[in-house]
Amino acid sequence: MTRTVQQKSDETYLALVNNSLGKYLNPEETSILRTILGEARQALELPVHAECNLAAYHSHGDQKPYSYMGISKYCCACCYWWITNYNQKSKLQWRVSGTHKKFYPNWALPPQADLSEDEYRDMKTVFASWLQSELRSTIREKIKRSGSDSSTTSQQSMGSGDDADALTL
Ligand SMILES: [Zn+2]
Repeated sequence: MTRTVQQKSDETYLALVNNSLGKYLNPEETSILRTILGEARQALELPVHAECNLAAYHSHGDQKPYSYMGISKYCCACCYWWITNYNQKSKLQWRVSGTHKKFYPNWALPPQADLSEDEYRDMKTVFASWLQSELRSTIREKIKRSGSDSSTTSQQSMGSGDDADALTL
């Protein structure tokens, strides 16, 4: 399953970052953010990650599957949050091996599954609040690190393979 997302302007995101930080980014930081936004914009069709797709798929029907998802990697930060919070509302209690705590720009909101309209809306609201808080503290930490030791920052943000786009906390 994929979802198409509405794109907002760079200025909208820059204003959000400036507002979250309580100061304006300098021209170099603004340029870096514009580059990142441009790359993120290339992914118009966002995938619902496998764990969340499985949980949604098995939320319908009479069969109760074995509730442990044996996947080869830990969950990303967003999937782990979603499944943990989904478990509080769903009849199924999914267990996963853990999370590597990375964020990916190509993460789509999981479907409503067996949640009521109110539960789904509430979960999206709490998720957005949590995500904003996590991103705010990550941006602050990245800026703090780049100010204290700019020689190691570029190495810390680089990944390999499909983790190259991940944002590590
Ligand atoms: Zn994920």
